[in-house]
Amino acid sequence: MSKNLLEVKELKQYYPVHTKEQGKTFVRALDGVSFEVKEGETLGIVGESGCGKSTMGLTVCKLIEPTSGAIILDDEDITFYRRKQMRDIRKKIQMVFQDPYASLNPRMSVRDIIAEPMIIHKMYKTDKEIDQRVIELLRQVGLDDYHAKRYPHEFSGGQRQRIGVARALAVEPKLIIADEPVSALDVSIQSQVLNLLCDLREQYHLTYIFISHDLSVVEHISDRVGVMYLGNFVEMADKESLYKNPTHPYTQALLSAVPSPDPTKKSNKIILEGNIPSPINAPKGCKFHPRCRFCMDICKEVAPEKTQVGENHYVYCHLCNQNQSE
Ligand code: SF4
Repeated sequence: MSKNLLEVKELKQYYPVHTKEQGKTFVRALDGVSFEVKEGETLGIVGESGCGKSTMGLTVCKLIEPTSGAIILDDEDITFYRRKQMRDIRKKIQMVFQDPYASLNPRMSVRDIIAEPMIIHKMYKTDKEIDQRVIELLRQVGLDDYHAKRYPHEFSGGQRQRIGVARALAVEPKLIIADEPVSALDVSIQSQVLNLLCDLREQYHLTYIFISHDLSVVEHISDRVGVMYLGNFVEMADKESLYKNPTHPYTQALLSAVPSPDPTKKSNKIILEGNIPSPINAPKGCKFHPRCRFCMDICKEVAPEKTQVGENHYVYCHLCNQNQSE
């Protein structure tokens, strides 16, 4: 059994804001999120835009400071580490972003983009060693040696994402948080980049947190999947269990909207009423209740507890408690 590489406990990310109606209040982007990721595992995180999944990636990576909670990476509590203490930690945890163009410095050559983290972390003694490693990384992400001399604008979106992956790999991280890494790419290129990430996972024994709004993409790469809604998980399970037996009404609705590869199959799409509410003014009780077709009185008042509905399958919904007590 692999050990936990990352443990996140009751993580909160609140931003103070001022509104006309409420005066001083908070945007609760993450509202007490807990989960763990085992070594070598890929945890997929899905949800609509605004559910807090990207904030979670940035907070776990400490690119933004958490309000409270705990982030334990490789048995080390890094929650309130300052910039200097984070320098060594950044070698273990890297991010790959959605927009490969915006995340690469347009004035730097590909060689310098990939070499920069190695230089910051003093990983090699000579320029020759760094150059050799850059070439090795370019080859591993499917690019050619001569690409080292080129600049980001000379590459396609898929190639730029490969450069972003090579840069993340340069410091030999244990954990990579990939935030919508393929959503800006054409569908044909998406699968190439996903396959590359799968291959690199094997080769480098990497652990991934893979954030996406696209359930098909997450299914392709993940071992376990967590579904987020308004700053919390509503369901988390092994991939097979979640896709075969989605239990939370929100997960059921999301999965019903995924197009079937079989065009003759009748679609049973569940239409979700309304939009995701503002995290400034989240509904009381179950945050999903204004959009839930099964909403009961208790849902409007009491937030549901975590309920185990199968091996490694957890749901936050009063329906599960009812079913279990029947
Ligand atoms: Fe729907 Fe109630 Fe379950 Fe929330 S707790 S998802 S409102 S049934």
